[in-house]
Amino acid sequence: MSSAVQHIAILGATGSIGQSSLDVIKNFPDRFRVTYLTANKNIDLLQRQINEFKPKGVVVGDERNASVIRRFVNGSVEVLSGEEGLEEIVTRDDVDTVISSLVGFAGLKPTISAIRHRKQVALANKETLVAAGELITGLVKEYGVRLIPIDSEHSAILQCLLGEDPLRIAKLILTASGGPFLHTPREAFSSITVEQALAHPNWNMGKKITVDSATLMNKGLEVIEAHWLFGLPANRIDVVIHPQSVIHSMVEFVDGSIKAQLGLPDMKIPIQYALTYPDRSPMNGARVSFPKLQSMTFFEPDKEKFPCLPLAYHALALGGTAPAALNAANETAVSAFLERKISFDRIPEILEGALNHHRVRPSPEIQHIIEADEQARAFTRTLV
Ligand code: MG
Repeated sequence: MSSAVQHIAILGATGSIGQSSLDVIKNFPDRFRVTYLTANKNIDLLQRQINEFKPKGVVVGDERNASVIRRFVNGSVEVLSGEEGLEEIVTRDDVDTVISSLVGFAGLKPTISAIRHRKQVALANKETLVAAGELITGLVKEYGVRLIPIDSEHSAILQCLLGEDPLRIAKLILTASGGPFLHTPREAFSSITVEQALAHPNWNMGKKITVDSATLMNKGLEVIEAHWLFGLPANRIDVVIHPQSVIHSMVEFVDGSIKAQLGLPDMKIPIQYALTYPDRSPMNGARVSFPKLQSMTFFEPDKEKFPCLPLAYHALALGGTAPAALNAANETAVSAFLERKISFDRIPEILEGALNHHRVRPSPEIQHIIEADEQARAFTRTLV
């Protein structure tokens, strides 16, 4: 282990993962130093983060907010804006690790830029791997960088695989809480409100991912993410509903042994693990109490009630640009639901329409992925 300070850029610092990352970082002032923070619009929180963490530079969504921040820092911090700003700061010499926690497709280009500049990437932005898994994993190999998942399921699998021969894996078992509508009858899905969809039983997360958890699309995206991270085909990646969210995922090996990673549902655990990997560091806080927990339950996901999950498997089977199109359609449909333009049960319908409409291009380059993303968004808007 090197004792050098790890310099960290956080993309999406004011989001849920960004804030939890800063909570982790501030416990280890000798080990981690935040050099860059980025925020889209939440500049009040960004200003507080600048005061507390004293980064060298920040990036905000647009020039208007950039001028507000420039006045605030009065020359003491570099201020950039937009997509170019994001792609620029991840190339800097005073960045060792990039925490990629932007929401959605916006995370793709800066993540690619970070990999090309040989930065370690701690990835919370699952849409990047969903849309461009083949491209990203190819670049990771080419540039010899480490891509460590922050998503709790993939962090669990990574932990289960330590010391194991990848050839001895039988299958991956992703756990899903089932979201707030696990026991809601299908007939009631059309009247689900935004507030109900945003009330997740176990995890406290951003809006987009919380709606994805309610439709089970989040689990579908995670199946695709797992495929690219761990190199297993879709038929060896299972999903099981586990409402207590204590087992974060499991790996079954060829001898029938199963390893699981457990813990309370707190994103600070996988974030800290990604930053200290393969080492561990102490963390204060509550612990799992088995007597208090008493039981853990498991059952099959209901694919009729949650068609987003089989749609994700279908997109993965189609390959090429299909997952990028599905992801773009999903981002558009979820936004429309949050803006109360469509009902909850129309999300999977719209995704299916968009996926059927998409013409798949195999082994896509970045420009094909961007094209697929734009076309799927435009088509989805016509369905909305
Ligand atoms: Mg997850």
